Amino acid sequence: MRLSNKVALITGAGSGIGREAALLFAKEGAQIVVCDLNESAGKETVSQIATQNGEAVFVRADVSKAADTKAMIEAAEAAYGKLNVLFNNAGIFHPADGSVLETEEDVWDLTMNVNLKGVFLGCKYGIPALLRAGGGSIINTASFVAMVGAATSQSAYTASKGGVLSLTREIAVEFARQNIRVNALCPGPVETPLLAELMSDPARRQRRLVHIPPGRLAQAQEIANAALFLASDESSFVNGSTFLVDGGITAA
Ligand code: NAD
Repeated sequence: MRLSNKVALITGAGSGIGREAALLFAKEGAQIVVCDLNESAGKETVSQIATQNGEAVFVRADVSKAADTKAMIEAAEAAYGKLNVLFNNAGIFHPADGSVLETEEDVWDLTMNVNLKGVFLGCKYGIPALLRAGGGSIINTASFVAMVGAATSQSAYTASKGGVLSLTREIAVEFARQNIRVNALCPGPVETPLLAELMSDPARRQRRLVHIPPGRLAQAQEIANAALFLASDESSFVNGSTFLVDGGITAA
């Protein structure tokens, strides 16, 4: 049990990477606060955790809204008395996100609000709770696209994830002496609903797979495994890192 006696809050836990992490963290002994904008998806994660005899509650929250984020942290402390792990994972990829020439202002704003401001708000309201618990671990989901220029053109998404890396480093240095570690998790392409539309065209999928050294997408479980390491005390000296789980895309 690598997370026994820990309380972990995971945003975007109604689907994909967040749901897999919630199931895995619960198996490892954590009490889970499942947060998502999508109530039915979040409640489904809670019921899957209950089926495996784990413990979880659902809190509906839009991570781009300060009031929701504040309430979500308060709900975690109300449910389990403390917060030890904060996984700022919720994110979107807007279908109309493209080259800077094509991307409309509303697409840029929405992407930034969820992907970057969401992480800012999670940390702003989550860090005081972690401090009350004597410290903890924050994991912010960025992406490999924050490390490379992508020929796929997704300017808002890429910029938002680059911002997550910078914010992560900033917080990691600021709070290290208060026993808080903050790391950015950078997945490569993962088989989740986020990529479903992009990958639904077989020719497009094939063009993408060519650039992934193992020739396949990651499974959400493979990203959750890395998140578990960052959440647990096994990573006690890992702080401010850009933790790549990308199958070697950025090495190619
Ligand atoms: P997903 O679409 O399967 O899940 C995302 C979840 O976030 C959904 O349940 C959705 O309802 C929730 N969500 C969306 N907006 C929200 C908001 N404003 N407030 C609260 N919840 C919200 O996606 P995923 O692939 O599991 O992505 C999880 C994270 O991983 C994202 O930050 C994404 O950018 C990142 N990521 C994904 C990939 C990939 O290829 N799938 C690669 C790199 C990084």
